Amino acid sequence: MERGVILEYFLSEQQKTLKSLARRIAEERILPRRAELDEREEFPWEIMKDLANADMFRAFIPEEYEGLGGGCLDLCLVVEELSRVCSGVAVSYAASALGGFALLEYGTEAQKRQYLPDIAAGKKLTAFALTESTAGSDAGAIKTTAERVKEGYLINGTKQFITNGGDAELYTVIALTDKERGARGASAFLVEKDTPGFSFGKKEKKMGIRASSTRELVFRNCLVPAKNLIGKEGMGFIMTLRILDRSRPGIGAQAVGLAQGALEAAVDYARQRIQFEHPIISLPVVQNMLADMAINVEAARALTYAVARTVDSGAKHFTEEAAMAKVFASDVAMKVTTDAVQIFGGAGYMRDYPVEKMMRDAKITQIYEGSNQVLRNAIALELRKRKARRE
Ligand SMILES: Cc1cc2nc3c(=O)[nH]c(=O)nc-3n(C[C@H](O)[C@H](O)[C@H](O)COP(=O)(O)OP(=O)(O)OC[C@H]3O[C@@H](n4cnc5c(N)ncnc54)[C@H](O)[C@@H]3O)c2cc1C
Repeated sequence: MERGVILEYFLSEQQKTLKSLARRIAEERILPRRAELDEREEFPWEIMKDLANADMFRAFIPEEYEGLGGGCLDLCLVVEELSRVCSGVAVSYAASALGGFALLEYGTEAQKRQYLPDIAAGKKLTAFALTESTAGSDAGAIKTTAERVKEGYLINGTKQFITNGGDAELYTVIALTDKERGARGASAFLVEKDTPGFSFGKKEKKMGIRASSTRELVFRNCLVPAKNLIGKEGMGFIMTLRILDRSRPGIGAQAVGLAQGALEAAVDYARQRIQFEHPIISLPVVQNMLADMAINVEAARALTYAVARTVDSGAKHFTEEAAMAKVFASDVAMKVTTDAVQIFGGAGYMRDYPVEKMMRDAKITQIYEGSNQVLRNAIALELRKRKARRE
């Protein structure tokens, strides 16, 4: 049994192999470079190549498009293991899955054949572009337009805070094909990096996940062929909601991995740090903190895996459950990484140890892919509807 994991969770042999391979890459290839990547805010190209060589990008792609045929849980297992060591690397990998979800779920056979094998091979990283400066939680307020012209669609507008922006080769971009209809007039497009009229703006300087890149995408009369429309015009917003439902367990997994890494670091430190002539792990207050951290990490993992399995079962409705996994696991990650810093004392505040980075990295899991407040609203709304149905 793995250290720090009390349950096997009935993973298949393929999933166990995937998880342990991801752990090995994380420990051998990411661990020695994580402080440097964070410090230099450098995109982890070499590590992306290692992940590609180890077939990690195939994990979530169907076999007919040169993938391994895994699903949401397989993706979560890889993200968790990468995030246990470096959440910045983990999100660069996970965002590439997010960027491909619309294509996977709603793409035509021709679109899938054109792009999925390269995504599976790790030759093309992807990104998902929804957010704009005036449309964050209120994603329906996007202003980027895609005007139908004779040669295709002309995209104009600016996307903000896009993970893998500038480094990805392929972008799923949500834009309005009918301005009058607001969110109901949104559509999804595949846009290749070298398309004329598509460029990159500001690269953000971030608090955490600094190995990942977050950039503005700028579209100025960017002409994309009509065949790059995913699904039908007007389906973009509905697709986005479904894609985010499907990807939120991945944020749960990112949070679980972070919390697991912080817990292990805190236990190791508490065992070797001597104060008052004893290791601090002999103090009941420290033991209680560690026990609570371990309980919460395991609960977050159980919920995340359960929801990922629900997604893989082919279930149609899991909006609330996916939101619950993301909210719960990210709140756990924030608490556990903060407590890990506390257990390290002053040393925890220093960059010599990994826990301050983990605490910085944890914060974003409460914000992106739907802030925890917005997701709590969505869960509460469903509870109110269920109560009304019972009355
Ligand atoms: C590092 C990073 C990477 C990102 N990557 C991507 C990406 O790859 N693709 C992409 O499209 N986007 C991406 N985003 C955008 C991200 O999803 C948004 O930042 C997030 O949805 C919140 O939107 P906002 O930042 O505009 O905050 P706002 O919507 O302005 O929210 C500000 C505050 O108000 C609260 N709030 C707003 N509305 C409500 C409400 N109705 N009820 C309760 N509280 C509310 C929020 O919870 C928050 O606390 C990324 C963001 C960051 C920081």
